[in-house]
Amino acid sequence: MTIAPELSDQVVSELADAVGGQHVLTSKTARYNRARVPAPFPVHRWAERVPDLVVMPASTEEVAEVMRIANAHRIPVVPRDGGTGLTDGAVPERRGIIVDVKRMNDVKAIDTDNRTCTVGAGINMLKLNEVLAPYGLLYPDDPASYPCSLVGGRIGTSGWSLIGSRYGHSRDLVLSFSFVLPTGRVIRVGDGGGPKVSKSSTGYQLKHLFMGHQGTLGIATEATLKLIPKPEAELSPFWAFPDYDSAHQCVQKLAHAGVATFAGAVLFDEWKVDYLRRDDEAYIPQPADVRALVCAVAYGNADEVRAGGKRFMRIARDAGARYLGDEISQGDWAARHDRYATPLHGRTRAGQVVPMSWHCEDSAINWTDLPQVRLEWHRIADDLRRRFDMFDDWGIFAYTSAATGVDYLTEIDIGIWEQELDDESWTAWVQAKKDIAEVAVRHGGSISACHGACRDGEVDLVPVELGGAFDVMLDVKRAVDPNNIMNPGKYLLDRAYETEVE
Ligand SMILES: Cc1cc2nc3c(=O)[nH]c(=O)nc-3n(C[C@H](O)[C@H](O)[C@H](O)COP(=O)(O)OP(=O)(O)OC[C@H]3O[C@@H](n4cnc5c(N)ncnc54)[C@H](O)[C@@H]3O)c2cc1C
Repeated sequence: MTIAPELSDQVVSELADAVGGQHVLTSKTARYNRARVPAPFPVHRWAERVPDLVVMPASTEEVAEVMRIANAHRIPVVPRDGGTGLTDGAVPERRGIIVDVKRMNDVKAIDTDNRTCTVGAGINMLKLNEVLAPYGLLYPDDPASYPCSLVGGRIGTSGWSLIGSRYGHSRDLVLSFSFVLPTGRVIRVGDGGGPKVSKSSTGYQLKHLFMGHQGTLGIATEATLKLIPKPEAELSPFWAFPDYDSAHQCVQKLAHAGVATFAGAVLFDEWKVDYLRRDDEAYIPQPADVRALVCAVAYGNADEVRAGGKRFMRIARDAGARYLGDEISQGDWAARHDRYATPLHGRTRAGQVVPMSWHCEDSAINWTDLPQVRLEWHRIADDLRRRFDMFDDWGIFAYTSAATGVDYLTEIDIGIWEQELDDESWTAWVQAKKDIAEVAVRHGGSISACHGACRDGEVDLVPVELGGAFDVMLDVKRAVDPNNIMNPGKYLLDRAYETEVE
């Protein structure tokens, strides 16, 4: 596919007819801003990843028309919602058109009888829940990016929620959505034919195919969501441990306790505790003998949360924990959406404070493999840090994905002094990402539990993790997007157009 450095006047005028001239943005600011993501970025190569223009459609029909134009001219299209994705999904690899859906942010319907709402893909959860509050209802998709990620991006990434062990993740909470295919065809996919069905056995379960594809198959424009009664109570006790192993045992006992209000449990390792003690202003520093932390989260009716909380306390005490008190327990949980939004800094090896951006790897790892994966990951980070004094290891946390504690979203947070990156350090970083992904896959895990795996380095391991299923992914891509216009260059999907897959 040949991409013109600037789109022709004819294409711009066709797009203006589709969405209105004022919603076709060509300025440098509009384009560069939509090439940026919060994850550390090869700043020295920024100019390579800027779209030719941005369109801001207001309806499914307008998105479909944009898609028809792009498909006819073979122009790449990249959907973008909040732009908070951490795997560069919304960053164009081949220029083209960014379809920014933020104007599609209305609440179209609230059905209190069936407890659903229908919204535009450009709304965010914070705003949606403000609208739902007077009805006593909540949309419980609760990522740390709750104030800034949007419903369409949650669909594009198949996001993970902090209270997902109780209420499910984005895939469970989105009942159905309208979806524009790369040809401009519009379909509705869900758990059944009707937009408000939560379990169906009719036909293929296409809802899941059109979630988590990182914008490589089309654009979600409108979604019907499952709602819950606003929980009366939340509880988030934090406990300290003298060593990692007893904390590791405790977190699984909490997950295995069968408490109905259990919404999740998280384990911070020694590196994470050191980092918080050293550099997190929001955190109350713990004494040096605290080597690991565990938090359990419960949501629901007040009496049920209280009863479950007593059981959690008993389990933690028996596992050798020290309760950290109500202030830190409530305060830390209350800060869960703000942790990474503040200006960030890290340290060089000599301890000098420098500006750093936050990067994380987010594998799904079984509980049994957490101790070993953790050590191997820290070794990789340490090696990188020794060679390039612009990386900092901010530790690991592991967070239940399911109520049974089968696997944990396991995140190593690495600070990167972004402005110092050059080709050599960037190459080393890409290799480190590959090594981290390799450890996860070797331990039977997934490269990503949360964000997707599109970035350089990790993406090379995707065919290894998925095996033969990756070839089917290529078949699907070619069938749905015959001209490879949707977010080309992502997930090694160009291979679908290079050779016939057997
Ligand atoms: C501080 C912080 C904390 C975070 N915490 C979490 C967390 O707890 N859980 C979690 O899951 N993630 C988390 N993330 C990552 C990110 O917020 C999620 O991946 C989120 O789902 C992205 O939503 P977005 O609206 O920003 O999408 P974008 O970044 O705009 O897009 C993400 C991907 O989806 C595609 N896409 C966007 N819109 C559409 C659409 N309408 N149709 C089809 N595809 C589309 C894009 O092309 C891209 O590939 C965090 C990020 C930050 C910065």
